[in-house]
Amino acid sequence: MSRFSGKGVIVTGGASGIGLATALAFAHGGAKVVIIDRQAGLGEHAAGEIRKFGGYAGFVHADLSDAVHARNAVLDAVDRLGHLDAAVNNAGMLGEIGKLADISVAGWHEVIENNLSSVFYCMKEEIAVMLRQGRGAIVNIASTAGLVAYPHATPYVASKFGIVGITATAAAEYATQGIRVNAIAPGGVDTPLFRSTAGATPEGAHRIAEMHPARRVAQPGEIAAAVLFLASDEASFITGTTLPVDGGWTAI
Ligand code: NAD
Repeated sequence: MSRFSGKGVIVTGGASGIGLATALAFAHGGAKVVIIDRQAGLGEHAAGEIRKFGGYAGFVHADLSDAVHARNAVLDAVDRLGHLDAAVNNAGMLGEIGKLADISVAGWHEVIENNLSSVFYCMKEEIAVMLRQGRGAIVNIASTAGLVAYPHATPYVASKFGIVGITATAAAEYATQGIRVNAIAPGGVDTPLFRSTAGATPEGAHRIAEMHPARRVAQPGEIAAAVLFLASDEASFITGTTLPVDGGWTAI
């Protein structure tokens, strides 16, 4: 019997990077997975990859920064799954870079809406479903930038500190109702997002790697492994925590 067989899982941002690795890992573990993403082509492709090895996968196309789209996407996903055992709220972006006073108001709103409001919108619906079931686990993807300063990324840092806060608060609110809520704080991870931003040049990639005592960034599968642990029954007494998966970044 596979670790997640019979389980229904939502992965937001599952078309790429950490979300894709997580969706694949759940599917390999026997879960039924629905990916929600705003990239239609990559999302369909990811679901197709899962079906190729005999897994169940669905794809819902939605922009989760829109409250109505987010609500409908989660409801559509739950409809396809039949029930919701785990939800991974991973969709996110880096957004505008610069010192605080140089960040535009539009840049601020873009990142807060994509990274933080989207998690709130999804959690509202996921928790409503999980309350009816009397069980469920949520794993939010924050960042080391949700635990310590990350200069030149004020909107991103605010969004990720926000995720850490709503994770702890929701965990406390629903702990007696069978729902666990945790977050992961990855350090640098070799994904399309990383390769198009901080890791776009060899110097940039090297500079970020050197911020980790491990002197490298993670592979997406190393983050997925931690997500699966927190979503599994092995983590039955873990709720409200943000787990750094960061090669020691926040330890020093
Ligand atoms: P990625 O760009 O490879 O994947 C992110 C996915 O989220 C994309 O498929 C994108 O289309 C989707 N997405 C973004 N905004 C969306 C929205 N509003 N609605 C629907 N889908 C949306 O990036 P990644 O590196 O895999 O990042 C995944 C998460 O991990 C993000 O929340 C990111 O902040 C976080 N993170 C990444 C790193 C890193 O170094 N890569 C480090 C720490 C945290």
